[in-house]
Amino acid sequence: MSQSSVLAALLSGLRSGSIELVDLTQPLSPSTPVIQLPPQFGQTQVFELEEISRYDDRGPAWYWNNFRSGEHTGTHFDAPVHWVTGRDLADVASVPAGRLIAPAAVLDFSEQAAKDPDFLVEVDHIKAWEADNGPLPEGGWLLLRTGWDARSHAQEEFLNADENGPHTPGLSSECARWVAEEAPVIGLGTETVGTDAGQAHSFEPAFPCHSYLLGADKYGLTQLQNLAALPPTGAVVIAGPLPIVSGSGAPARVLALVERS
Ligand code: MN
Repeated sequence: MSQSSVLAALLSGLRSGSIELVDLTQPLSPSTPVIQLPPQFGQTQVFELEEISRYDDRGPAWYWNNFRSGEHTGTHFDAPVHWVTGRDLADVASVPAGRLIAPAAVLDFSEQAAKDPDFLVEVDHIKAWEADNGPLPEGGWLLLRTGWDARSHAQEEFLNADENGPHTPGLSSECARWVAEEAPVIGLGTETVGTDAGQAHSFEPAFPCHSYLLGADKYGLTQLQNLAALPPTGAVVIAGPLPIVSGSGAPARVLALVERS
């Protein structure tokens, strides 16, 4: 097949619905949940719009805004330089564009997370998934489905914090190390506010997904939604973070292509 016929087949599949486009992105607004760190640390801010003009004296025929946002607000991409372990590695603008289109494995732990918000995925869970579905994709994403996207309409429910900090599912420290050092994937995508579990502040090392994956030149994708619409294997993810020069991450439109038979 020539290149043009492959692209023509893609377009025709999208038009006919045999290839479905699934939007994995949360809408960005002032009510989009953001992470909250303990008070001694700097805080990210919520997304904000500032109107420049709206068909008025400031601009009679046009409407536009300035916006203010954390790099890590809403559905976003973590670049290696975000963590001290990756401080000499890529900023978000330096991530090769060729790594922004990649296959995805979707591992569903929503039942476990519904019973235990602190549920942690272990290496054995991933090996059991691989026994059923084949190996994790080379150069692809490990996407963690936990059902947490159902809580994304409300900051409190999404962070699920008490006096001991947030309670949200994620990877154990050993599993994070394995995904960083032994798995063939380029990164981890989650439905929660960050790639680490809510209680990962007290893991050894602290925030192991950030520490191990970003230190291994891998990436994070967070606050994904609609992972339930993806098959365990075969989806292709297109992640488009803003290329903020020297940025540690950026809000991203994340889409998935899924073949329907
Ligand atoms: Mn982040």
